[in-house]
Amino acid sequence: MAWDFETEPEFQKELDWIDEFVREEIEPIDLVLGSPYDLNCEKRRQLVPPLQEVVRSRGLWGCHLGPELGGPGYGQVKLALMNEILGRSAHAPTVFGCQAPDSGNAEILAHYGSEEQKERYLAPLLRNEIVSAYSMTEPHGGADPKVFTTHAHLDGDEWVINGEKWFSSNARYASFLIVMVVTDPAAPPYNRLSMFIVPKDTPGVEILRNVGIGTGEAEGSHGYIRYTDVRIPKDHLLGATGQGFVVAQTRLGGGRIHHAMRTVAKISKAFDQMCERVLSRETQGGLLAHKQMVQEKIADSWIEIEQFRLLVLRTAWRIDRYKDYRKVRKDISAVKVAMPKVYLDIYSRALQLHGALGVSNEMPFSAGIIDSFHMALADGPTEVHKITVARQVLREYVGTDDLFPTTHLPRLRAEARARFADVLELEVADQ
Ligand SMILES: Cc1cc2nc3c(=O)[nH]c(=O)nc-3n(C[C@H](O)[C@H](O)[C@H](O)COP(=O)(O)OP(=O)(O)OC[C@H]3O[C@@H](n4cnc5c(N)ncnc54)[C@H](O)[C@@H]3O)c2cc1C
Repeated sequence: MAWDFETEPEFQKELDWIDEFVREEIEPIDLVLGSPYDLNCEKRRQLVPPLQEVVRSRGLWGCHLGPELGGPGYGQVKLALMNEILGRSAHAPTVFGCQAPDSGNAEILAHYGSEEQKERYLAPLLRNEIVSAYSMTEPHGGADPKVFTTHAHLDGDEWVINGEKWFSSNARYASFLIVMVVTDPAAPPYNRLSMFIVPKDTPGVEILRNVGIGTGEAEGSHGYIRYTDVRIPKDHLLGATGQGFVVAQTRLGGGRIHHAMRTVAKISKAFDQMCERVLSRETQGGLLAHKQMVQEKIADSWIEIEQFRLLVLRTAWRIDRYKDYRKVRKDISAVKVAMPKVYLDIYSRALQLHGALGVSNEMPFSAGIIDSFHMALADGPTEVHKITVARQVLREYVGTDDLFPTTHLPRLRAEARARFADVLELEVADQ
């Protein structure tokens, strides 16, 4: 009988170490550095690699990776427990070698790359000597990949790519992009697309804009990219032609649950801030913490965080158990749906309870509220994942041809009466 909510003491020691290391060494660098992906930033070069070295020597580098790729092969439950800490900091995932989107792109290369590609792209990516981008969404439609038009055709030994992609995060810092492209427009919708590695310095790759988030950021990191006659070697196709969706699933399943693990960290941090504030601030002659409507916010937040965390951990456990993302599609989509809601709810309450300070840029809540929409959109919008959950759930049920439900009480009563007729007759006779 294995049904346990405790962490092994040995691993708990690691988590305690991670917690302190993130708080003391990494969270402070979030306050002085820009993007964790900007490998050309001189300050980053001085501050981040020494911390990565500490993590490596502790054996905690790339914990999502198996030993064949230089990680300890911890599996998703242990990774979830780690990410519940790492997600507090923008730089912590990079310091521990498990940052998105590189982690997902690495999964694709590990599965579908040739030995030469693994050497050229995967190995430096895993060492964080380079970073990558995932280029799937198009400006005229993201939620429905069936409308994508960026296309490629074979010309001799080269694929030639033309089209536009939108919101390719970190493209400006990336050495290569994993790009999803139409290769057979006449095929059925789910066999039209293929996946390619495109080195960013290939002639014809042009970043039109680096789109920012919210209204404050002058220039952001989400690339609006035009691909014009981009020629890449024939072998830069990942998987077979028409297999783009299959290849994409290699990264999206893991990517979604990893975002959720980090979201647990973010909402827990906001909850801590909320609790500290209500125990510090007085109004109408008493602490905020003593007002019932404030208590409701604290109680609702705690319950929602616990519920979400358990859903994430159970999904992580199921991934480890089945080792097949197709078997946990429903669970992952459910987590994906729950994530932005709990993120938005907790950050909204934290903001409200901090009053004007909460709205200001001196606290992280308004940025977190925008980021909750990032979680509602990236890797597919909430609505699409709700459809997946409903479809998967309904597969486990069948309808009835009867006019009334199989659980219609008059019928159940009649069946029960027939079954216990002997006893009921005795009862009547005794009366
Ligand atoms: C911060 C951020 C980072 C991102 N990073 C990347 C990246 O690195 N690479 C990449 O390729 N993409 C990335 N994306 C893009 C993301 O995947 C898309 O935004 C998402 O797939 C939705 O596509 P769209 O924005 O074109 O919205 P649309 O497809 O125009 O949909 C708009 C809205 O319509 C509704 N909707 C859509 N479909 C349905 C439906 N079937 N039923 C009901 N309602 C529906 C939803 O409310 C949806 O939000 C990122 C997005 C964000 C916000």
